Amino acid sequence: MTARILDGNKIASDIKGELATEIKSMSAAGVRPGLAVILVGNNPASEIYVRGKVKTSEELGLYSEKHTPPASITTQELLSLVRSLNERDEIDGILVQLPLPSQIDAKKVLMAVDPAKDVDGFHPVNVGFLSTQRPGLIPCTPAGIMEILKRSGITIEGQAAAVVGRSDIVGKPTAMLLINANATVTVCHSRTRDLPAVCRAADILVAAIGRAGMLTRDFVKPGATVIDVGMNQVTDRSEFNRFFQGNQKREQAFNTKGSTLIGDVHPEVAEIAGAITPVPGGVGPLTIAMLMANTVRAAKFRRGARLPVTITERV
Ligand code: NAP
Repeated sequence: MTARILDGNKIASDIKGELATEIKSMSAAGVRPGLAVILVGNNPASEIYVRGKVKTSEELGLYSEKHTPPASITTQELLSLVRSLNERDEIDGILVQLPLPSQIDAKKVLMAVDPAKDVDGFHPVNVGFLSTQRPGLIPCTPAGIMEILKRSGITIEGQAAAVVGRSDIVGKPTAMLLINANATVTVCHSRTRDLPAVCRAADILVAAIGRAGMLTRDFVKPGATVIDVGMNQVTDRSEFNRFFQGNQKREQAFNTKGSTLIGDVHPEVAEIAGAITPVPGGVGPLTIAMLMANTVRAAKFRRGARLPVTITERV
């Protein structure tokens, strides 16, 4: 059996198409949702992420602006930037790109973001809304995972789910969303006893670990749905061969770029899973799409609108 590939690029593109239509009609009604992104310093990876976020905002018709204070900024200065964005009515979403330089009190800065504009969904107020099933802003990657499952017709209710990873950004909110969708959820981490056996009991297995190809076929129930959140760069040739020997497409890309991206799930799992997200092209594209969805959602919430059930209402 070969797993059905859950195409994240296609799902993200569908969502962005729906959002573009929604943004157009909101703008025509005088409400153009706005996103402010704060990028501190010159971290190359952060610059790439922020560029992608601003570009997608523009493509969908959102208003967006980028703030690029120097790496030497103080916590107080950053707090006053966040507060000024909190006060501006045309800004619906505020995103502070992480990581922040070491002199900055990152928790203090994230806490200063108005929860109604917290499009990353990291503020404790939004975490509380999620765990008590109240409408709020949900972290983008977990919201994207739920969209993949729902739009692919994967049954969640009554299923056994295992989430490997308990981070505040991915593991915990994903587990909460699955619980809210009536799955029976086990959250696993580095101290979990007999991880393969716990994972093998799952109908839906979510890997959010940060370890290249860690979940091999021994961790997977045949026919299970596997969501691979991991994004790990492989640059070592022997490691590459361990995962991708004989894969000509990967080989060519690796030879050209000197690296390749692999998830937390070993490629061999595609031979026994029922459905699986690829890396790249699985969960990754959903993260930006759901950031856009959160910005539209924030624009509606802030104006107290009860609008038709759309993607931004459902997440
Ligand atoms: P994280 O904060 O480092 O958390 C990793 C989790 O994995 C921790 O809970 C850790 O357990 C657990 N873990 C580590 N080694 C383990 C082991 N040997 N057995 C069982 N559990 C183990 O990472 P994260 O931010 O959640 O990200 C996870 C992965 O997702 C990374 O590869 C990241 O790049 C990727 N990611 C992708 C997207 C996307 O858009 N596709 C977005 C965000 C993150 P402990 O808590 O016990 O330490």
